[in-house]
Amino acid sequence: MQFNTYTVAGAHIAVWLVNHPAPEPQELTAALLDHDVHEPAATAADAWALRPWAARLRAVFEAGGVTAKAELADALLIAADCRPRLVSHGTGQPFHFHYAPVATGLPPRVRALTAAGLAHVIDDGGGSRLGACVRPGCDVVFLDTSRNGRRHFCTLRCANQVNVSAHRQRERQRPRPRARQRTVLVSDREQVPEDT
Ligand SMILES: [Zn+2]
Ligand SMILES: [Zn+2]
Repeated sequence: MQFNTYTVAGAHIAVWLVNHPAPEPQELTAALLDHDVHEPAATAADAWALRPWAARLRAVFEAGGVTAKAELADALLIAADCRPRLVSHGTGQPFHFHYAPVATGLPPRVRALTAAGLAHVIDDGGGSRLGACVRPGCDVVFLDTSRNGRRHFCTLRCANQVNVSAHRQRERQRPRPRARQRTVLVSDREQVPEDT
């Protein structure tokens, strides 16, 4: 699955906003610039205005099942007043989608762009790729761009923590072996999988 076009830039920005719910304006500007957002300069007021939106975006990543994600993303399209139009920034410049006019200001544009990005991923059949880390206590969300699309953790670090504690749990539940058998069991110990 290809997730690197401008069409899904909004989904990557959504991930960033959810994982940075209280950004400094210059951090927000840098994140938007990373994804070629037009006129990305954010003020403190802009960053503040997007906080409740980040919470609404989070709900899409955390919803169980593609249907629930789609319903939430659809509601975001309406809430953001997302209306695509073709824009060129000068004679000979390529036309591309904008999801809200530049004149509406930065927060409305970011709302419309992120809603559109999530909707495009779902439209592309990638709804289940809008995920949240399953390690208890970790609230990081992600767009799963892996080939098999079966990512459960934000990082290898979270995956290893969960795998190690599951391994210890199994060890505790295992009946206590006699001394002779123990050496065999230790050398035969299950490896902690490194796969996320
Ligand atoms: Zn543009
Ligand atoms: Zn995590």
